[in-house]
Amino acid sequence: MVVGQHVRHVRVAVIGSGFGGLGAAVRLRREGITDFVVLERAGSVGGTWRDNAYPGCACDVPSHLYSFSFAPEPDWPRTFSGQPYIRAYLERIADTFGVRPHLRFHHEVEKVRWDGEALRWEVTTSRADFTADVVVSAGGALSDPQVPDVPGLDTFPGEVFHSARWDHGLELRGKRVAVIGTGASAIQIVPAIQPEVERLTVFQRTPPWVMPRTDRAISWVERRLHRAFPATGALRRQFLWGVRELQVGAFTKRPELLGGVELLAKANMARSVKDPALRAALTPSYRIGCKRILLSSTYYPALARPNVDVVASGLAEVRGSTLIAADGTEAEADVIIFGTGFHVTDVPIAERVVGAGGVTLAEAWKNGMEGLRGTTAAGFPNWMMITGPNTGLGNSSMILMIEAQLNYLADYLRQLGQVGGLGGGRAALDARVFAVGAWNRRVQERMTRTVWNTGGCTSWYLDANGRNTTIWPGTTREFRRETRAVDLAEYDVIRAGDGGAAPQQAATKETVR
Ligand code: NAP
Repeated sequence: MVVGQHVRHVRVAVIGSGFGGLGAAVRLRREGITDFVVLERAGSVGGTWRDNAYPGCACDVPSHLYSFSFAPEPDWPRTFSGQPYIRAYLERIADTFGVRPHLRFHHEVEKVRWDGEALRWEVTTSRADFTADVVVSAGGALSDPQVPDVPGLDTFPGEVFHSARWDHGLELRGKRVAVIGTGASAIQIVPAIQPEVERLTVFQRTPPWVMPRTDRAISWVERRLHRAFPATGALRRQFLWGVRELQVGAFTKRPELLGGVELLAKANMARSVKDPALRAALTPSYRIGCKRILLSSTYYPALARPNVDVVASGLAEVRGSTLIAADGTEAEADVIIFGTGFHVTDVPIAERVVGAGGVTLAEAWKNGMEGLRGTTAAGFPNWMMITGPNTGLGNSSMILMIEAQLNYLADYLRQLGQVGGLGGGRAALDARVFAVGAWNRRVQERMTRTVWNTGGCTSWYLDANGRNTTIWPGTTREFRRETRAVDLAEYDVIRAGDGGAAPQQAATKETVR
């Protein structure tokens, strides 16, 4: 923060403009709060659905469930939406709900520091600085690409990029391409680029379980019905939601029930992969559901094509244009595409947030991420996280979790207004250590029986200590209930001292550097 510069004070600063950030913006306006900004490092809204524009990118949660409950879309063209449709949907949300005036593009948040005297956050961005009574961190868990530190990668003469930073200017036709990883991103990329590349080598460290994807065009009859009778769209959404709620018990309490589902996944593979050696290499040895269950009806057929090689081992080294797997297998490539996921349990934003005790969120989380109801953190007053610790889902729509957290945000602001006066800034709420501890003990106790912890795999759900700090071990209905209202007994109320501690009326001018 530049001393002496005019700094705009806002009631709320939202970080990020994906589903979480836009959802927060819409909710704030609905709560009658218009004094807020949405800080976005890129030049448009959309978050992960803006950044992930790789060929074949689509959502594996059905369209009618993967959308805001307050903004139903009767015209989804397919049962599973492609990335361009979801991105366009989010652009429409920004227009329809009057979010545009609040958006600040190319404002990358560099530092967020709690000022315990003034009871507000100092937010430093790459373009302008702000102070805010409340910060809503909605940067998302899948936003910062992770590229493994492969020895010799710098000697590779060709192009290298991550799935979430696709090089659209690069022609893949006729090239030898290596795809590293076999997660949700890679299994969509492989069938999309296989027909055009000369040779495709897939480096598979751990085989995923892949179920068929029942994607189809939504007929004009269905769409007209949903447009004419919105209740039919709502019913469809309810059905999709209900089925997924019923599945939760198998993931969280009875993983053995998932054994039958493995047979369906094996049948999906057997339909397309006739070579027994390849089938063996592609068959996982852990319980289905331990890693995210992937959906594709085109991945296995693509792997069986003559121009594709599967290396059943991780990429360990690069020597010039030669890629060497951990088992010694070598492959030549002109292009390397990393489908190696994201920084999930070590989100970079945590290093930039300095809380009440002068420690960063990353330091506070050195033994693992811990939030209260997935939303707040002890020592970080008036700091709220959308899709915070243990709010992820293994089988349903994250939008449901986001909307539950927005309920919590709305009640938090209401209660903050009551304890601090409607102007805000005269009080702050800090999650109590005992409440955070109690919440996380409950979450971790429930985690012990889940397929994510017992299924015999490692995944991005687990942190470096093997603790699952990402997934919610219950139904979305339960989480909604847990986040319906803020229980003030779980918070310390901090009030500004008499002399000088109350925030000065800040300048309203927003100076862009
Ligand atoms: P991911 O699930 O974290 O997968 C990363 C992949 O990279 C894994 O297969 C991992 O292997 C592999 N890997 C890492 N280092 C490697 C190395 N040195 N050599 C070979 N392989 C290596 O990442 P993602 O596919 O980007 O997906 C992340 C999440 O985004 C998903 O779980 C999902 O929640 C979301 N997503 C959703 C969709 C959708 O809706 N369809 C699409 C894309 C992403 P290991 O398994 O051995 O660790």
